[in-house]
Amino acid sequence: MIQLTNVSKIYPNGARALVDVNLKIGKGSFVFLVGPSGAGKSTLIKLLYREETPTRGQVQINSKNLVRMKDREVPYLRRNIGVIFQDFKLLPNKTVFENVAFALEVIGVAKSEVRNRTLATLELVGLKAKETAYPHELSGGEQQRVCVARAIINNPALLVADEPTGNLDPDTAWDIMELLYDINKRGTTIVMATHARAIVNKMQKRVIAIENGRVARDEEKGGYGYDA
Ligand code: ADP
Repeated sequence: MIQLTNVSKIYPNGARALVDVNLKIGKGSFVFLVGPSGAGKSTLIKLLYREETPTRGQVQINSKNLVRMKDREVPYLRRNIGVIFQDFKLLPNKTVFENVAFALEVIGVAKSEVRNRTLATLELVGLKAKETAYPHELSGGEQQRVCVARAIINNPALLVADEPTGNLDPDTAWDIMELLYDINKRGTTIVMATHARAIVNKMQKRVIAIENGRVARDEEKGGYGYDA
């Protein structure tokens, strides 16, 4: 589903974020990206939803070449890719319902369908009772659930997550991981960058370690592999 071929990324300031990365990630997989800060994990994630393009090499998702993709095609790509961040990025003046519904409204989904799908997705993430709350009225875990709902409402083939549990306490982090686990079980491919050692060790999924912009390790059912 995802293929990176000889991918290098050098930022305009000269930072070498990725160096000759080759990767294949199959449909339906759950992959952790681990490695020290500054290793290139976020950059790799950004290439997947075309927030960045590589300096060299190819990025393909479902046989679509993201490097050659025209800017006007990017919104269509993003409909099929959900993105979750560490710092939630919810709209502060919109309710839970509005934050999630917005993802459908911008692509022109009919109003009645927006309502049904938004409520169904809020139910899935366990937040139906909070539909009229504003982000500042929610706990961190609840805010991240809203982000998960927003990311999956279009039923994307791919969900990418950059440190999604980074701002959460351990118990809440596990709640979010259970949600991501269930979403993966339903068929969505998940690529998640994380420093959450306990989560990576427990989940026994594929682990790709990035160090100095290169793939340093790639193991099925891997462990975190770094000291705390
Ligand atoms: P990680 O997610 O593993 O912490 P990043 O992908 O954020 O790593 O960063 C990899 C390298 O690229 C670092 O040296 C970082 O400073 C640099 N970098 C990341 N984003 C940018 C940017 N927008 N402009 C310049 N350099 C960047």
